[in-house]
Parts: sequence; C-alpha cells; structure tokens
Amino acid sequence: MKDPFVLATILAHPDDETFGVGGTLIRYADEGVHVHSLCLTQGEKGWNGVPDRPLVPSEELGAKRAAELSEAGRRMGVTSTTCLTYPDGDLAGVAEDRVVRDIVRWVRQVRPDVVITWGPDGGYGHPDHIAAGERALVALELAGIERHDLGLGPPHRVRRCYRFVAAADFVEGLRTINPQFVEYMETLAVKPQRWTRDRLGAAIDISAVADRKIEAMRAHETQEPDYSAWIGARERIPWVFAEEVFIRQYPDPGGPPLESDLFGQLRSS
Ligand SMILES: [Zn+2]
Repeated sequence: MKDPFVLATILAHPDDETFGVGGTLIRYADEGVHVHSLCLTQGEKGWNGVPDRPLVPSEELGAKRAAELSEAGRRMGVTSTTCLTYPDGDLAGVAEDRVVRDIVRWVRQVRPDVVITWGPDGGYGHPDHIAAGERALVALELAGIERHDLGLGPPHRVRRCYRFVAAADFVEGLRTINPQFVEYMETLAVKPQRWTRDRLGAAIDISAVADRKIEAMRAHETQEPDYSAWIGARERIPWVFAEEVFIRQYPDPGGPPLESDLFGQLRSS
C-alpha cells in the first residue's frame, strides 16, 4: 500500500490555518492525508479582551493561542501542529536565515508532498503573512538541495506548493459588510491584489465541511471578534464558507488551469 500523502501548511499566526484554509485541511485529513501545520509566531499581539479586562494575563496569551491552535488542529484531524515563537507583528524584522533554517528543519522532518503558504499579498497585506510566505518559499528551495546543511535533516523536495489568497469577489463583498476592515487594509504597505477567478490555480470546494471548519474556528477562543466577523460575513456572503482559493507556486506557477484538488496529478504518479 502506498504511504499516505502529506500536506503541510507554513503560516504566521495560530488562527491562519483554521480561518484561512481549515476547510481544505479537513477535507484532506478526512481522506487519510497526514496534515502538519507550522505556525511561525504564537500570535501574542492578538485580541485578548478589552484592555482593562484581558482574557488571560497578557504574558500568557501566546501560550494560550498555541494551545488553541492545537485544539483546532485536533478538531480538523490535523496530525501535528507546531508553533514557533518568532515575534508576532515583526516576523519580517527577524533575520531571514534564522527563520528559514527553522522551516527547513521542519520540512525535512514532516516531508510533505504538498505545501500551502501565504500568498504574495498575505491575504490582505499583513506584513507577517507576507514574510511567512516569502521565508517558506526560500526554505522549500533549500530543503530540497542535496548538500544544504545536512545538520537540518536529510534533503526533501516538495512536489507542489500553493499559496493561499483572498478571492477578489470576497474582498469586494467585505467592502460593504466591513468597511472598517477595508479601511485598515488601505493603511498597509502592500495592498491586496485582485485575485479574480482567471488568476487562480486551485479552488477547493469546502461546502461539505463548512460546519466543521466553523467548529474548529471556535477553538480559537481568544479571537472571538474575528470569529464573529466571519460568522457575520457568512450571513451577507453565503458562499464565504464554500471555497478556499490558491495560486500555484510550482510546478506551473499561477493559473489556469484551475484545479479542484491540490494532489491532482500526484495521484496518478
Ligand atoms: Zn494571521
């Protein structure tokens, strides 16, 4: 019998994988794919209640959010979650080779066939997301090089890499239901690109597992405002939990063709 496929995510904050690509992870875990999530920060700058009534002591928020990631992973059927402790909000400020080294080591351990990371605009321009995507691509390249730092484990070449993006029509929809968020996006240095359908490399139908994605999102207890915003969005944009979309990094960068399965061609090889 063939070994199960391995899917890995390399993202920035403990809720990125669930809120962003949770439906995709659940779908693949359901079919027996081993899913591993690497999160580069503990998200210690995230929501922690109102300032004079924090949900947990602020120095404990990172550990609390790492535990939330672990619980969300359990609900999604993820095989492992790993949370590193790079600074939330300043991932881009950490020496690149340190971060890349940790990612190479992890990739060589979990040995994924397919990797998901953040797109070039980090979904909506978040600098940590952008840095996570960039560091991940450098690390994937190095992980596959035969003689690159064997102290980090035996070389491993990832076969396919996809980058998570926010569909243009979703961002358009946000404009009417959450104008404050759109205003915030305008303040960021990198503006979100318009990921129209013709630019996408893959769209994963998650409608059958949408309720389970929401159940996993609820594990991120401290991130209640974000959770509520998503649930509120669902009332106005019913398809918000219907699909998660990606561009292809390799092979065949970009799109079309628009794939409906991240493992497509690997299944026949
Ligand atoms: Zn994030």
